[in-house]
Amino acid sequence: MENVARIKEKCVGCKSCEQSCPKHCISMVESNEGFWYPSVDEKSCIECKLCLKKCPVENTAFHRSKPQKIWAWRNKNDADIMRSASGGAADSAAKAVLQMGGVVYGAAYDEQLVVSHIEVTVDAEREKLQSSKYVQSDPKDSYAKAKQRLAGGKTVLFTGTPCQIAGLYAFLGGNPENLYTVDLICHGVPSPKFFKKYLEYQNKQTAGKVIYFNFRSKDKRGWGTQYLLKTKTKTKTKTKTKTKTLSLDRYGKHFMSGDCYRECCYQCAYANVHRVGDLTIGDFWGIGKSHPEFYSEKGVSSVFVNTEKGQKLFDSIKSKALVIDATLEEAMVKQGNLVHPTKRPLERDTFYRDINCDDFIDNLNVGLQLKDRVKSVIPRNLVRILKQIK
Ligand SMILES: Cc1cc2nc3c(=O)[nH]c(=O)nc-3n(C[C@H](O)[C@H](O)[C@H](O)COP(=O)(O)OP(=O)(O)OC[C@H]3O[C@@H](n4cnc5c(N)ncnc54)[C@H](O)[C@@H]3O)c2cc1C
Ligand code: SF4
Ligand code: SF4
Ligand code: SF4
Repeated sequence: MENVARIKEKCVGCKSCEQSCPKHCISMVESNEGFWYPSVDEKSCIECKLCLKKCPVENTAFHRSKPQKIWAWRNKNDADIMRSASGGAADSAAKAVLQMGGVVYGAAYDEQLVVSHIEVTVDAEREKLQSSKYVQSDPKDSYAKAKQRLAGGKTVLFTGTPCQIAGLYAFLGGNPENLYTVDLICHGVPSPKFFKKYLEYQNKQTAGKVIYFNFRSKDKRGWGTQYLLKTKTKTKTKTKTKTKTLSLDRYGKHFMSGDCYRECCYQCAYANVHRVGDLTIGDFWGIGKSHPEFYSEKGVSSVFVNTEKGQKLFDSIKSKALVIDATLEEAMVKQGNLVHPTKRPLERDTFYRDINCDDFIDNLNVGLQLKDRVKSVIPRNLVRILKQIK
């Protein structure tokens, strides 16, 4: 039939079709791997094809621009930058839009540490969007809410993975003047079910409950890829804290090596320099070599200004940061996903096979990772010096 059932493994899970069907005959169903895909009630479908028009896989007409300008970015506010994943550029955009009286959409944990897109209208809630959650964020009904806000004349900032931004444009069927978008450089998303299983494993290991998780904590070793989790004991009397390098962890290792991503990520249409958002933000990993004077342990973002609106947004947030001019080549260092999608490793075929087994996480292999193990124990300054002379 002529509906989104034909999108299959190319589906990015944006939920635009579900929110658009006039007959409400699309529901999002979790696959065995734990990713959601549309399921169409064929008996109710009238083949109007609206879902296909609103699907970013089918409708690719929106907004693909090569960056006009590249910046390196360090948020001036210490508390803000320390909570953010890299230089806090996405957070500055959120802060500015809230100050204008606008609303911001982005990924946040709920109390069970399930990640979904939420609407933020007050500054006190901005913190929820900060830092990267390395799992697919459930868009829920954020597109429909954003559409309502836009129609009511509010300034809206929508942040997310490039496919989520493309889904929003397809859902809206255009680019309203009061909408700003920020996409992230993205190498792929693991399934929410995998993350849930992992948290259950951590609960077991610590004989408590994980109450806080930060994939990009800077508390112990500064800007890098260290997670920090906090658990509460069963009696709720004590809080324990644990940090570890992502690549040495059962979840983090597989996120980093890319054998657990949603199938669409291995053929990602956005893994290149033709960007979908008004701004693109990522980690400026090469800054220590190209502009060593601008490097900071607190983190540096790369900000790509892709559109005129992106320039307008950048102008309104620039006072919140220290910035320097950079080139696309400099920002592309260690950013394979600006060149091509993550390569699908053979291990992906079997990665999720045993996800329903109780010992799924126990049986995940982390490997020796000798280089990362050594790096995780030697002083950060020394790691940086070694990187610079490499
Ligand atoms: C799955 C994933 C893969 C990534 N891959 C790369 C990469 O290969 N290279 C690279 O340079 N950067 C990557 N990033 C982006 C990077 O981790 C930082 O988010 C980015 O540098 C912005 O940092 P910041 O300090 O400006 O943002 P912060 O101020 O920390 O704000 C974080 C922003 O990220 C958004 N966000 C967080 N988690 C998610 C999620 N699961 N889905 C959608 N949006 C989310 C929030 O809504 C918020 O706008 C990835 C991010 C994600 C979520
Ligand atoms: S073709 Fe129309 S009725 Fe059928 S699923 Fe798509 S939007 Fe719904
Ligand atoms: S990509 Fe989005 S709109 Fe297209 S089928 Fe998947 S969930 Fe539906
Ligand atoms: S890699 Fe591409 S398809 Fe996968 S989540 Fe990121 S933007 Fe979406």
